[in-house]
Amino acid sequence: MNYISLNKKAGAVSFREAVVRGLAPDKGLYYPENIPMLSEELLSNFNNLSDQELALNAIRPFIGDEIPATRLSTIVNETLSFPFPVKQVEEAISVLELYHGPTLAFKDVGARFMARCLGFFNETSGDEKITVLVATSGDTGGAVADGFFGVEGVEVVILYPKGKVSEIQEKQLTTHGGNIRALEVDGTFDDCQAMVKQAFLDAEILEKRPMTSANSINVARWMPQMFYYLSAVRQMGSSDKIVFSVPSGNYGNICAGMLATKMGLPIHHFITGTNANKVVPDYLSGGIYYPKPSVATISNAMDVGDPSNFIRIRALYDFDEDLLKSWMSGYSFNDEQTLQAIRKLYEAEEYLMEPHGAIGYLALKSFLNGLKETVQGVFLETAHPVKFLDVMPKELVEKIEIPAPIKQLIQKPAHKTGISSYADLKSILLD
Ligand SMILES: *Cc1c(COP(=O)(O)O)cnc(C)c1O
Repeated sequence: MNYISLNKKAGAVSFREAVVRGLAPDKGLYYPENIPMLSEELLSNFNNLSDQELALNAIRPFIGDEIPATRLSTIVNETLSFPFPVKQVEEAISVLELYHGPTLAFKDVGARFMARCLGFFNETSGDEKITVLVATSGDTGGAVADGFFGVEGVEVVILYPKGKVSEIQEKQLTTHGGNIRALEVDGTFDDCQAMVKQAFLDAEILEKRPMTSANSINVARWMPQMFYYLSAVRQMGSSDKIVFSVPSGNYGNICAGMLATKMGLPIHHFITGTNANKVVPDYLSGGIYYPKPSVATISNAMDVGDPSNFIRIRALYDFDEDLLKSWMSGYSFNDEQTLQAIRKLYEAEEYLMEPHGAIGYLALKSFLNGLKETVQGVFLETAHPVKFLDVMPKELVEKIEIPAPIKQLIQKPAHKTGISSYADLKSILLD
């Protein structure tokens, strides 16, 4: 499969090149040249297959023969080595829990898949080392550190804002050591991201050190996220129409679900839930698409003012606005509404959400309210509440069981380097 740049000013490349480059030379996002359909055979046999079999079938055409079949199967099996349970919480409302991976956030799937693809490409090229450079506001860095830890030929450099990630998130970034380097930036997440962008444009660095990114702009991190939707549709069985409600920030996750739908996965509709950063809901309710600087909220993994994957969603619907709007609804909620939803659902059903999942839940409720047809709604719980202890309602914090791996993590010593300017980053990357 070849990948084109959505800026249309750079040539098509192989899967391998798209993964290694991250972003096209014209700064466009890579996008598959065509969207393969799931086979009739797969769809008619859907409920008898395992998550791993479904995933392998869905992803294989995007990679073609660039990774041998047996190796790709190993990569998929290792990526999906934990469950993705769907649980009913209310009538017509279920939750898809995406936090049973090693870092307790859905980003584990994309990070593990990308790390293994890059590891394979490195083995077979004898290339020099490649550096994965990434800025994180919390969850990305942990998933990337865990996914890439110990992968031969790959060095990882993670920038995170000092004092602005939770204690557990910081431990997830800083306790690996080895090929994982954590840089604590005296600044905000935006500063971290600006430094990373500058490094990707710095010829002096690129000459010494090939670099790629591990954000959802990378096709190997973005596309495998379709796996959760395959698993959830299988678990729901084939009764009513299914709608998914996805708490969204950079729109990589929801876009992967829409990709699966384009391939023939029977999904009826998508709902995006956001916090105060509501560029997309505003657009969907009739406005123009107008990116803004991000504002801080308690669902901070979604504090994104200009979602990078939205262009891929537009591409999926051939840049036809009306068509896109017929497939997608959007709602936004403030911090107070989010906390209230967490409390209410816990009181009613003893189901504990964290702030991102709670926005997915609220968006689904808004959509279902007054809807005439019968559908089954599924909202995505994108992280475990333990990752957001500092913002959860106080009276619920004591209800949160600390998972065993997190207890161990808290004991481990941190390795980090403080930096305060681009010059500091540059000297580390040139070293
Ligand atoms: C990253 C993240 C999101 C947003 O996902 P996108 O794919 O960027 O839309 C939502 N919730 C949590 C917990 C996250 O870590």
